[in-house]
Amino acid sequence: MATVHLEALQYNLRQIGAMVRQDGRAPAVIAVVKANAYGHGAAQVAMALEAAGASMFACADLEEGVALREAGVTRPILVFGALSVSELSHVFTHALTPTVSTPSAARALEADAAARGVTIGCHLKIDTGMNRLGFRHDNLGRTIPAVLAMLHLRIEAAYTHFATADQPESPWMEEQRHRFDRSLAALGAMGLRGVVRHAANSAALLRDARTWYDAVRPGLLLYGMVPPPLAAANLDLRPALSLTSRIVAVKGLRPGEGTGYGMSWQGDRPRSIAIVPAGYADGLDTRLAGRGHVLVRGRRRQVVGSICMDMMMVDVTGEDVSPGDEVVLIGRQDDQEITVREIAGAIGTIPWEIVCRLGSRIQRVSS
Ligand SMILES: *Cc1c(COP(=O)(O)O)cnc(C)c1O
Repeated sequence: MATVHLEALQYNLRQIGAMVRQDGRAPAVIAVVKANAYGHGAAQVAMALEAAGASMFACADLEEGVALREAGVTRPILVFGALSVSELSHVFTHALTPTVSTPSAARALEADAAARGVTIGCHLKIDTGMNRLGFRHDNLGRTIPAVLAMLHLRIEAAYTHFATADQPESPWMEEQRHRFDRSLAALGAMGLRGVVRHAANSAALLRDARTWYDAVRPGLLLYGMVPPPLAAANLDLRPALSLTSRIVAVKGLRPGEGTGYGMSWQGDRPRSIAIVPAGYADGLDTRLAGRGHVLVRGRRRQVVGSICMDMMMVDVTGEDVSPGDEVVLIGRQDDQEITVREIAGAIGTIPWEIVCRLGSRIQRVSS
């Protein structure tokens, strides 16, 4: 069971808002709720953040935007992704704010808006070096005038995305920021002025106030996670998700016996293992076997054997545990805590992946 702490999300939003309100500036906070709000449940997360004053939301594709509207979100919803793969009409029927990142996307939107006799607000994406989506920063003179001439597009913002914000040793974030500044100046010279400018994901937001511009776009920080290897000294965040299960069986192993597929983790002394009904079908990474820990009776216990589809095994040797005892996979138990960042570190991946993969089978309750 995943418990999503809505008041922690609201607290984190307020903390981020307070952090970026400095020197008379007050950048807006665009709450990133893509990928089912990083596995936390987009509908409940977005509604809680809207109640706490989020000024805008961002999601990955049009379908996610539609789901947010259907959940009751009333604030603007920016769609980051390319538009060509899904039903463009959602933009109009659900009042979504699309990203225009290619000439063909601009033409398609313009044509659709013209046919409907409306103008559509959109954000312009500038590629300053990540080389993913966006108009190339060094080619704007050729691509943008045609977009600006489109009568049914209302460009409300220009933005870019950093490729190396969580790599302090890389010079690229600085370079991309300069390219973005030059792009904004070039757009201004072409007649695009007074638009909202935004660039910062969580890592950039933490690292450099010059990336804040008029709005910031945190995802990870909202959920109470700090992107490794960064620290958030001046930001007090609360984890927004805990993941718990219960022991369903306890079993003794004789010396030389293993557990799970592959019969790994054989030992030369008797041991006891607890069976926990959570596996890779719930999104738990198979690499956790032998590397990850869970909390049982307030103590850290190693995950052993193999992560199966629906079950996993935990070494509880020496502890008096019983079926029904709570197992904490993410979160606190007594004075111990397992964080998403710790799990990601143990298996050599990133925190985003751990939470985004939490399966749909996991019941998400809010508190
Ligand atoms: C995912 C995403 C963000 C948020 O990233 P975090 O690292 O989770 O803060 C911001 N902007 C864009 C374009 C994104 O795709």
